[in-house]
Amino acid sequence: MASQLELHDVTVRYGDFTAARNVSLTLEQGQIGCLLGPSGCGKTTLLRAIAGFEPIASGEIRLHGNQMASGSYSLQPERRRVGMVFQDFALFPHLNVRRNVAFGLASLDRSERRQRVDELLKLVDLAGYAESWPHELSGGQQQRVALARAMAPKPDILLLDEPFSSLDSELREQLAGEVRDLLKRNNVTAILVTHDQHEAFAMADQVTLLQSGEVAQTDTPYNLYHNPASEFVARFIGPGSIIAVTPDENGDLGHGLGTLQTSQRRWQPGESLKLLVRPDDVQYTEDSALRLPVVGRAFRGAEYLYELELPDGQRIYALTPSHINLPVGSTLPVEFRLQHMVVFSR
Ligand code: ADP
Ligand code: MG
Repeated sequence: MASQLELHDVTVRYGDFTAARNVSLTLEQGQIGCLLGPSGCGKTTLLRAIAGFEPIASGEIRLHGNQMASGSYSLQPERRRVGMVFQDFALFPHLNVRRNVAFGLASLDRSERRQRVDELLKLVDLAGYAESWPHELSGGQQQRVALARAMAPKPDILLLDEPFSSLDSELREQLAGEVRDLLKRNNVTAILVTHDQHEAFAMADQVTLLQSGEVAQTDTPYNLYHNPASEFVARFIGPGSIIAVTPDENGDLGHGLGTLQTSQRRWQPGESLKLLVRPDDVQYTEDSALRLPVVGRAFRGAEYLYELELPDGQRIYALTPSHINLPVGSTLPVEFRLQHMVVFSR
């Protein structure tokens, strides 16, 4: 059976400028994907290409098995079964909630329409708000109305472009989780666009990280964090340092940092390597012989993020429970959890 969404080597150009290059990805029915990346990397461009607002220069887009676009063909947006939710809510201010949600339901008769709107408002937990006006609702509620409106015509895919970015950061992650549950319960296929990896992690099954219009990696949130394919991915996805190390024939890194496992060897003894060290790979261990000078620290409520200096001057970060309260200038006893670390060849 065909996948719900397929992009094959999709390239989008604005004049001479290539905004997306050879992007491929697939989503199965009910899967939530995410296009993640820094501003300007081509996320909105790809979403607009899927929706039909941007022609593609080459490649192919298929939805539910049907071709939507190729280098020489583009089905009109209104004939693609896509629903869109934008950053700025974009509710019609002069229509109440019911009429906003009913907007794409002109083909239904009155009572069917009424029933479908009620069903959707219940779905997004706004059952009592049908007669409210957009300005009477909070940002989170308005965005749930926008979601109901986009889902009302039962699109083959829902496209969400930075839908939470005008909300407070706390509300953002919460709403991302709620929207995920809602989409999952209803087996809706969706793509979220965001520059925020926490939002991506809270919502998506599969994340495609873009770097200057090209796919840097498509993977689960867990693998992007723990098995990044490149330094770009490693740095974008989370905090950490990339340090230079030179293991001996046993994999020993010296300085008491520990020993790389020879079983997962992608390196030669004496080779200069780069090691990705996440703060959660450096574990506070009270009786460890390895004690590293604290050169900085940030209080994060439940945790401290310590900046530590290695004997050769390179710096790494360690995360500890915040009752491990040590000042700059003291030393923190730690152990490296090398079995989890990612090695990049120089
Ligand atoms: P993102 O959504 O990841 O921030 P966009 O897809 O909006 O990125 O833009 C990708 C690149 O394409 C940017 O360099 C942007 O300036 C450029 N771009 C976007 N839209 C147009 C356009 N209509 N004409 C020319 N360049 C554009
Ligand atoms: Mg954008």
